[in-house]
Amino acid sequence: MDKKPLLGLSIEELEDLMRSRGMAGFRGRQLARWIYLRRVEDFSSMTDLPTKLRDELPEDHSVTGVRRLGTWVGSGGAATKHLVGLSDGAAVEAVVMRYSYGSSICLSTQVGCAYACPFCASGAEGLVRDLTVEEILGQWFIAQRHLDERNERISRLVYMGSGEPLANYDAVLRSMRLFHSEEGPGIGYRRMTLSTVGVVPGIEKLSAEGIPITLAVSLHAPNDYLRDRLVPANRSYPLGEVLDAASKYAADTGRRLTFEYAMIKGVNDHPDLARELAILLADIPCHVNLIPFNAVDGCEWIPSDPERIEEFEAILGRMGIGATVRRPLGHDIEGACGQLKRRHGEV
Ligand code: SF4
Repeated sequence: MDKKPLLGLSIEELEDLMRSRGMAGFRGRQLARWIYLRRVEDFSSMTDLPTKLRDELPEDHSVTGVRRLGTWVGSGGAATKHLVGLSDGAAVEAVVMRYSYGSSICLSTQVGCAYACPFCASGAEGLVRDLTVEEILGQWFIAQRHLDERNERISRLVYMGSGEPLANYDAVLRSMRLFHSEEGPGIGYRRMTLSTVGVVPGIEKLSAEGIPITLAVSLHAPNDYLRDRLVPANRSYPLGEVLDAASKYAADTGRRLTFEYAMIKGVNDHPDLARELAILLADIPCHVNLIPFNAVDGCEWIPSDPERIEEFEAILGRMGIGATVRRPLGHDIEGACGQLKRRHGEV
């Protein structure tokens, strides 16, 4: 019988679980401390729990349902990628990036992805399945344990790994609430970013949740003609609808939007497109991240020249749109989503 992981349960659920086993509810709070704050996986080490409970819990439960299959460190220690094995033999990646202001983890939300962006390794395999909430939390658990050795803490979450987070809405939302909870990792909503390809119904639903996370939209083009080619989801959710939903999100939450724009040489990096983008975004509170394209195997596109990216950024700036070129961490460990898993195969 599969053991039910405890990671992914709220404090109330842990307390209920303890009561159902004939224990006092406060034992659930003790368990939460061992799991979320101390990241202990071995029940026998949870020394303030009764011996009987420590002996019996492993019969029905594990702490996590995931395991670390490998860890690669690149970019001079600034990027670390973990390959995370799931209970059914599938695997996903979680990338930790160290910045001057702290560490951030890029989380996967699905095995594969249905949206088939032509430049993405995750999209190439199609959607395999959604991740469960404990599998999303499990990526953090593995990465944070690795950082524990250096006494460092993950302080930001970015839902930008393999999969479309809004296509796995309930598990993603629940994971955010757990990450935010006082008895859990205690990561503020303002330190969470959800990146979407532009799934309009999901953006609309998120607007009503009342949680002020940052919404990042993968734009990559300033018009439907070009975006249809780069982001196939645009045929279902055209640019105008995506921007309307995103603008409403910004108005409802008071959060400035982020637009991601991968710079692809000769495809979407012409100065005229920068001007078109600036006009398109003129009335939206936003920031644009220009990302040097991260080429994946089998893709003919290559990154824009640095001078072209600088010119694009300057045009946006002159036209009143804040933009930065995102530091391309992780290229040396195959930082584009899905690449590492693809290289190492299903484990
Ligand atoms: S870029 Fe994102 S939305 Fe597109 S296929 Fe990859 S994981 Fe899916």
